[in-house]
Amino acid sequence: MQRRLSRTQKGGQNRNKARNKLGRAHLKVSRRRNDWVCKLAQHVIQSNDLVAVENLRIRNMVKNHHLAKSISDAGWYKFREWLEYFGRLYGVPVIAVEPAYTSQNCSNCGEKVVKTLSTRTHKCPHCGYVAGRDQNAAENILKAALKQLANTVGQTEINASGENGLCFVGETQPSKSARTKRKRKPKS
Ligand SMILES: [Zn+2]
Repeated sequence: MQRRLSRTQKGGQNRNKARNKLGRAHLKVSRRRNDWVCKLAQHVIQSNDLVAVENLRIRNMVKNHHLAKSISDAGWYKFREWLEYFGRLYGVPVIAVEPAYTSQNCSNCGEKVVKTLSTRTHKCPHCGYVAGRDQNAAENILKAALKQLANTVGQTEINASGENGLCFVGETQPSKSARTKRKRKPKS
């Protein structure tokens, strides 16, 4: 449709028609994507007692042209927002941890095992632990989240005041528009 649009004459009626069609196609894709991440987030929240995520700077990562398309395509940002929304709705803590070294460190012994993005398997030369790259990173993220949770619970016990809300939002505060959007009940 993009190709068809560029072949039409400027200012012509056909150009308007083509532009309209293209716009509607983009709208359809974006709605479908949001629908998918919304359902996925609800499923993840409902089938777990705690959800740990990496506090990724998605806006900065999209600036990397090699990653931009796959990140935007997967709707990471929306997914994170839905996770936090359903987390509050169902009372499941959603904990964001710092993404530093989550994929580089060994989740079994803690030693640093340097790998590039194309290295898909984590093989630790220190302790012999072998796991998929994402599996190893996920274990590190969960460990960091549990540690963070333990620290927070310890602190609230000492303070013994205020509310003990277990929903943690990392540095990335959602925008005003995102907040108002999340107040709306999702279509089931
Ligand atoms: Zn190891």
